Amino acid sequence: MPPKIIERTCTIEMGHRLPDHKGKCRNIHGHSWKITLAVSGFVRHELGHPEDGMIVDYDVIKAALKRIDELFDHTLTLCDHDPLVNSLIKESNAPGPQSFPWGLRYTTCYGVINVLVGWPPTSENLAYLWGELAKDILNFSSAKGSPVFEGISVKETENSEAFCAWE
Ligand SMILES: [Zn+2]
Repeated sequence: MPPKIIERTCTIEMGHRLPDHKGKCRNIHGHSWKITLAVSGFVRHELGHPEDGMIVDYDVIKAALKRIDELFDHTLTLCDHDPLVNSLIKESNAPGPQSFPWGLRYTTCYGVINVLVGWPPTSENLAYLWGELAKDILNFSSAKGSPVFEGISVKETENSEAFCAWE
């Protein structure tokens, strides 16, 4: 049987803005971000094995999506060179940030603000960063026949999608 691809999707609510954009994207706004992870591999045929008939349990992919959800759902995500960051952090007297991959997380009186260091929060950049995070959590072996993380799709609207492939 040829290899197959499975996908699992989650949706998070997240605000962002692109301060250097000439159009509407410079306004603070939000999306329901639809994030899909794709994994390819061979379907296991091993009677009695808990993953018989599967490439990998969907729960494994779900765990990677859960981490993205924990870090970004219902947050405002900005870039460190956005002047709004200083205003919000200063005005709210926010305590020192917690760090997370590629960024800092502030708990302010306005809510949680994630600040990406050097990465404007476009769907292309988020696809790459969330994909890297997912890849680390999936942690598939490089051994022949193991599942392979194929890539991630990030849709900020029904009509706008960034796909980042890994293999
Ligand atoms: Zn947007």
